[in-house]
Amino acid sequence: MTVDTAEKPVENHAFEADVARLLHMMVHSVYSDKDVFLRELISNAADACEKLRYEAIAAPELLASNPDNRIILTLDEEALRLTVEDNGIGMNHDELIEALGTIARSGTRAFMERIEAAKSGEGAQLIGQFGVGFYSCFMVADRVDVVSRRAGSAEAWLWSSDGKGSYSVTAADLADAPERGTRITLHIMEDAKTYTSKWTVERIVKEQSGHVPVPILIAEKPG
Ligand code: ADP
Ligand code: MG
Repeated sequence: MTVDTAEKPVENHAFEADVARLLHMMVHSVYSDKDVFLRELISNAADACEKLRYEAIAAPELLASNPDNRIILTLDEEALRLTVEDNGIGMNHDELIEALGTIARSGTRAFMERIEAAKSGEGAQLIGQFGVGFYSCFMVADRVDVVSRRAGSAEAWLWSSDGKGSYSVTAADLADAPERGTRITLHIMEDAKTYTSKWTVERIVKEQSGHVPVPILIAEKPG
């Protein structure tokens, strides 16, 4: 961890056994089509925007000064980073642990059985279907940092993992956090560096995320 442990205690958590198994499977992947990770992250970002809209019906102040939802993809070819940021509902401390450390849904075991039986080309379709979307980013990243600030909350949290069995959770600096929502930073592996190129990312967004009801902006990190 690179966080300041003196000021902000780092909590270390082991992934639930099923998650660890799933991650192992993702990394030693049966999927030839790694592109799907981006569709999964964008779909989660869009879901988060939709959840915010829904909660804002009863609590319009949640939209506050930031009423227009958008998803921003930022590419940094030199540093091998891809970030996916939304200004949706965000996650608090407990939600991060629940959402990104466990598999709440019961379909997981069935998923893993199906995937073991499947031909490699079928694997990709099964990912979204069984709701294991987020973990697919470990097909292309050897570290993933998630900074999230739930709508209306004065706290932000950093979740970080190399996908190898455990993850950490730390309070995040508000100055580095989205004003509201979630920023996911993928530390892209050398052999997956095409996912930091605008050409590739634009192509995938066009092919797979055309139906997403939230604007998707693509930015290249200024040098
Ligand atoms: P699913 O989308 O099918 O629930 P995922 O593995 O894609 O499964 O995501 C797991 C959970 O993580 C989501 O249900 C959601 O609670 C949480 N999550 C993931 N990404 C985000 C995000 N950008 N904003 C808020 N919550 C998120
Ligand atoms: Mg999802």
